[in-house]
Amino acid sequence: MKTTDENGSKSVSAEIDNCAKCGSCRSVCPVFAEYGLEKKAARGKIALCQAASEGALPLSEGLDEALEDCLLCLACTENCSRGVQTHKIVKAARAQLFRKLAKKEKYGAPFPAALPEAVPERSGLRYFLHGGENIPPIRCPSFRKTHAESFQAAEPGDTVLFFTGCFIDHVFPAVGEAVLKVFTALQCRVVATDSQGCCGASAVASGDMETARSLAVENIEAFDGNHPVIVACASGGRMLKFEYPEIFGEGDPRRKKAESLAARTFDISEYLAERIGMQVISSRIKDRCRQPLTYHDPCQLSRGQKIRNAPRTLLEAACGENLIETRLSNLCCGSGMVYGVSCPETSKKILSKKIEDLIRSGAKTVATGCPVCMRQLSKGCRDRGANIEIRHTIEILAESMGL
Ligand code: SF4
Ligand code: SF4
Repeated sequence: MKTTDENGSKSVSAEIDNCAKCGSCRSVCPVFAEYGLEKKAARGKIALCQAASEGALPLSEGLDEALEDCLLCLACTENCSRGVQTHKIVKAARAQLFRKLAKKEKYGAPFPAALPEAVPERSGLRYFLHGGENIPPIRCPSFRKTHAESFQAAEPGDTVLFFTGCFIDHVFPAVGEAVLKVFTALQCRVVATDSQGCCGASAVASGDMETARSLAVENIEAFDGNHPVIVACASGGRMLKFEYPEIFGEGDPRRKKAESLAARTFDISEYLAERIGMQVISSRIKDRCRQPLTYHDPCQLSRGQKIRNAPRTLLEAACGENLIETRLSNLCCGSGMVYGVSCPETSKKILSKKIEDLIRSGAKTVATGCPVCMRQLSKGCRDRGANIEIRHTIEILAESMGL
């Protein structure tokens, strides 16, 4: 296995060398917690990659299976005293395994004929088709097709470009509608161009870097310019802010454009709470949520973008004392982009732990900032028979603003 990343930089070998093999990462890994096996935790995965890089292990199906067993939840990275970025090591290895094992066969199949043609062939949603019961209901026409490209308030203030991602476009259009309502009520002009595509998070997670790179190019072009880009999907936001610049090597002119896009991309919660400001938001609240509500931290928002307070501040304005915390609010829901498809049994175990925590909290509603988590949590509540509604933070805010 090569220890250069997709750009040929030595960052992966530096990450491997930086691991002190202390094992602290085992205490925070949701997969290790289920099995207690060394190979499931970050230290074990790093050891496997190190052995592969030294030629002691072949790039085989067995190695692939071991490295698929990672949620890319970033819990190990956040808690490692040496800052080892295990997700980078795992992703670099998956990219090499994807090519070596010709995994296009596994993850690249086109949609079955029964699915709407409206869903683009390279959409991350296609990964879920391999999961049988994991197939989400696809809305047709999509959110972007239903709405005009541009939404203008009576007295337009800021123009914001809206990156929807596939899940809002095809599975949760109501989240997109709530974004439009809130931002237009705040005198913003919202542009949701249909030339945007999938963020590529599922492609990166499965190792299909060729697809990820072409999707990044498409989105960088679609969001060219100087306007801020708002995102209501934690996984998509993480891609635009952190992954796109790393997809292109130093000196590649596309990297500059990716960095420009990253610098003006905001999760909707940070845009609202920090750029528009809580004074303005609070002044618009008309009817607070009256039932106990809790918040689930999406990994790609809380750890992936270090955004924990902004959504809670918005929800506090919308719910007051009805906003409650759960003990495991920061625990991954088990979705992990392609993890629910590649490791469905462990995904279900982690999801059960999450759902039990939500039930214990007594919350009637769970708000979160990622449509991928929304889908996973909804499924978990349904399977468990738990009467808990799963919503996006922006939907709760829109309702409390009387929109
Ligand atoms: S990844 Fe970090 S926490 Fe885990 S064994 Fe290596 S140094 Fe220790
Ligand atoms: S990213 Fe998450 S699942 Fe993967 S090794 Fe780290 S803690 Fe475990």
